[in-house]
Amino acid sequence: MNDVRDTVILGSGCAGLTAAIYTARAGLKPLVLEGHEPGGQLSITTLVENFPGFPEGIQGPELIANMKKQAERFGAEFQLTHLNKVDLAVYPFHLWTGTGEIRAHTLIIASGASARWLGLPSEQALIGHGVSSCATCDGFFFRGKEIAVVGGGDSAMEEALFLTRFATKVTLLHRREQFRASKIMLERAIAHPSIELRTNVLVEEVLGVDEKEVKGLRLRDVVSGSTTDLPVSGMFLGIGHEPNAKMFAGQIDLDGEGYIRTAGCVLTTRKGVVVPGVFACGDVQDRRYRQAITASGSGCMAALEAEKFLEARGH
Ligand code: NAP
Repeated sequence: MNDVRDTVILGSGCAGLTAAIYTARAGLKPLVLEGHEPGGQLSITTLVENFPGFPEGIQGPELIANMKKQAERFGAEFQLTHLNKVDLAVYPFHLWTGTGEIRAHTLIIASGASARWLGLPSEQALIGHGVSSCATCDGFFFRGKEIAVVGGGDSAMEEALFLTRFATKVTLLHRREQFRASKIMLERAIAHPSIELRTNVLVEEVLGVDEKEVKGLRLRDVVSGSTTDLPVSGMFLGIGHEPNAKMFAGQIDLDGEGYIRTAGCVLTTRKGVVVPGVFACGDVQDRRYRQAITASGSGCMAALEAEKFLEARGH
């Protein structure tokens, strides 16, 4: 492909979509590569109560759909594809996607973070057969059943609360005594009559591999060392996320956990030196705040930086 795009945005969560709104409105006709989880984490969440401007809250998928429409109104283009390979040492940058090759004058990386798994072979074998990382996607299948949620942060609380709509009982399993979740979310989970919280437990095995459906969980108490089986039909993971930045290893600086290191909020670096024209925003570079509004805010910053970068080069 000979065509060189002014701006390519990798990712279509709230960081990527905000960057798309701003760059499109600046006339840069951004191309958004939607990635393997279009809409990002908001598209698989339920009610978002803390995004400013919605006093009664808004459903995550609706918020994302609105942002996409807003970007399209100003001329953003969307491609349902993922990035396989990138060369940031050449200019314009070279990108290889699932559908072809693209050259770009600026790249905004907003590829977010994906749900983390425990990594047990039995868990991996039963994904889609009772093991899930998305309560809003799969909760419906557990109507009238007993299930477990793993994790001690806000995601686990949110999933557990949401799943009480379907399940008769939700056991929340956390590996420590103290919870990472915010006080308000933890209190809601504690107060819910269908949720039981169990601390200091690890999932050792998901039972039911031979039957091809979850039959229960083998739990180990980390204090006593004893194991017990918890009969449940489903296990939902709420244990955090992994940044989607592996394809940039060696081309821009990543930290020890694979998040993109940024300077001045959204500038990327290689061996500590700024890589001109490549910007990162949202959860792929933020391990601290990780909120829809902060992702959107950094998407805006990345877009303004891309605009300034192109302007300085006479675009
Ligand atoms: P998180 O805060 O990093 O919590 C992850 C939880 O999973 C921790 O309790 C952690 O245990 C546990 N965990 C991690 N790896 C594990 C493993 N291998 N086995 C067992 N447990 C494991 O992640 P999050 O809950 O996804 O939240 C991320 C950010 O999004 C936070 O800032 C949160 O406030 C925000 N968020 C907000 C809302 C809301 O306000 N509605 C909803 C969801 C998320 P340890 O505590 O022992 O490390």
